Amino acid sequence: MPELPELEVLREYLGPRLEGRKIAQVWTSPKLSFLLRTPPDEYARQLIGGTFERVWRRGKFLVFDISGQHLVINPMLGGRLQWTTASEKVAAATVFRITLEEGDELRFLDTVKMGRVYWVVPGALPTIPGWAELGPDALTVSLSEFSQRIRRHPGELKNLLRNQAFIAGVGNAYSDEILHEAGLLPLRKRTTLKPDEVVRLHAATGKVLRDAIESIKAQAKYEPHKQDRSFMAVHGKGKEKCPRCGHRISELTARGEATHFCRGCQH
Ligand SMILES: [Zn+2]
Repeated sequence: MPELPELEVLREYLGPRLEGRKIAQVWTSPKLSFLLRTPPDEYARQLIGGTFERVWRRGKFLVFDISGQHLVINPMLGGRLQWTTASEKVAAATVFRITLEEGDELRFLDTVKMGRVYWVVPGALPTIPGWAELGPDALTVSLSEFSQRIRRHPGELKNLLRNQAFIAGVGNAYSDEILHEAGLLPLRKRTTLKPDEVVRLHAATGKVLRDAIESIKAQAKYEPHKQDRSFMAVHGKGKEKCPRCGHRISELTARGEATHFCRGCQH
């Protein structure tokens, strides 16, 4: 599941490749068109001839401004963007293809069929489910705002970090990484945090996300539609040793999602 760091790198990668380019062709998959929240015909009718103006991100939404309108992608669990050429073999999970005038192609793939794609007019972004509730971006939220907002949420820290209304951009994987960095247990209640622990949690949030962005950008074989998270400290590393204290990493699974943490150095 792409989260803030993957989408931020994607934005930086696609921006210079797309901005100013004109759309020659659009194809939407008849089988996967239910992922398009605007009628599929509209994409071909309105996007062809359009120009990519800007690629930007809000939380876990990626937004492409095209000739004054917004193409918005919420990749959810398995959505991926592929940057390729029109002649490349089309994967079965391809939801749409946008072909540029010189033959480069942007594709959206989704193997678990949960992603959401919207094509909206200016001013309609808040009508997208989840958009209006988004809190400040997890990458840039200030300590004062973080400390203010955290008071409204009494529950477990892992759920708190993943709550897009608190801060936007963190999901299952990076919440584990942030809590490990902060030395705090995922099931601990926010109400038990001391003021210095709130400061630590805020610092860990920024550090983990910034470091992840740098790690992804440093990957020699970076391809936007592939996800390499081998740099992570605990998430996805059940039964391995904690890189900080050497204790065996614990795993909890709930509703098909794994939480990883270290009982040795998270309290
Ligand atoms: Zn540890």
